[in-house]
Amino acid sequence: MRGSLLVDNIGELVTNDIGGEGGPLGIRRHAAVLVEDGQVAWVGPARDAPAADRRLDAEGGAVLPGFVDSHAHLVFAGDRAAEFAARMAGEPYTGGGIRTTVGATRAASDDELRDTVRRLRGEAMRQGTTTIEIKSGYGLTVADEARSLRIAAEFTEDTTFLGAHVVPAEYADRPDDYVGMVCGPMLAAAAPYARWIDVFCERGAFDVDHARAILACGQAVGLGLRVHANQLGPGPGVQLGVELGAASVDHCTHLTDADIDALASTGTTWVSGFEPTTVATLLPGAEFSTRSPYPDARRLLDAGATVALATDCNPGSSYTSSMPFCIALAVREMRMTPAEAVWAATAGGAAALRRNDVGRLARGARADLMILDAPSHLHLAYRPGVPLIRQVLHNGVPQCRL
Ligand SMILES: [Zn+2]
Repeated sequence: MRGSLLVDNIGELVTNDIGGEGGPLGIRRHAAVLVEDGQVAWVGPARDAPAADRRLDAEGGAVLPGFVDSHAHLVFAGDRAAEFAARMAGEPYTGGGIRTTVGATRAASDDELRDTVRRLRGEAMRQGTTTIEIKSGYGLTVADEARSLRIAAEFTEDTTFLGAHVVPAEYADRPDDYVGMVCGPMLAAAAPYARWIDVFCERGAFDVDHARAILACGQAVGLGLRVHANQLGPGPGVQLGVELGAASVDHCTHLTDADIDALASTGTTWVSGFEPTTVATLLPGAEFSTRSPYPDARRLLDAGATVALATDCNPGSSYTSSMPFCIALAVREMRMTPAEAVWAATAGGAAALRRNDVGRLARGARADLMILDAPSHLHLAYRPGVPLIRQVLHNGVPQCRL
């Protein structure tokens, strides 16, 4: 959108600007934000605001950076509502249902997959998500992984090759051959559309040797590293991620003291500003949807690890695109403070994607922000399930009013 836009009459401005005052969220009162050419051009006291072509009245609502959802699986077909119902009736979650979605995804047309990504991307945007990572991982053939990423790249810069999501049925008795294919022709076909590579390092998925080999192949062609780790039980995934310098290890539901020490040793973005740490990305929607114990966020935070929150939006274990829902779970079930949860859902997600242009509102950042129908960020956890997001700006462009 051309011209400048001044957002004012803000009840509380969350900047995540740790250089200033207002705690780790960088909260400012009586502030205004000037947006120009898709970027934040100025943040300061409303009384000093520069002239602008247009004005957006926040009507006393809180203004926050757009959410950064750093973990989502949006390229798929079909749903698994019946599996969810069976689980709620007492059946355990094993991860085996991924293969159900693989079958449906392979059978779908490009346009069907594209329509699903567009629908979920829009759903997330209306709930304040302005940056979203999108993984492949339901194709699991060379052609289907490449097309999943090609479609994902139409919607985000943060695309992740997850050919190592699960060993597909046709390779069930020869996983070494599958890993060879992931590292060979599948990676070659996927890499042009991917920024990241990810592995599901878990009992029943990929063991640590396979995970290490796959991550090394991805790193060799310039992809950044992410790991699905320690979701279903303790395991080597978190420490492998730290050892290889992964941007994020995701789930972190079952951690030993050594895992926590390893994560904390990579640094604390919360207090030190942007630096390439290995972020612990917590996905409480998965624990909610599989009725599992939640990760111990307090132990991670108190040890000094950098924590992000993301949705893990996928049709099997966490079919939510709602970051406010994840914030409410983090506060209620994982004992994060509302400020820690909001930071983790914005700046934390940006750290997990090694980006400093999103997740904060300061001069030069992308003009991605939301206006709440509430005076403070506290209401995101205090009023769960309520559509509090009145307006979203993405690249400075107001999205549809709800
Ligand atoms: Zn996932």
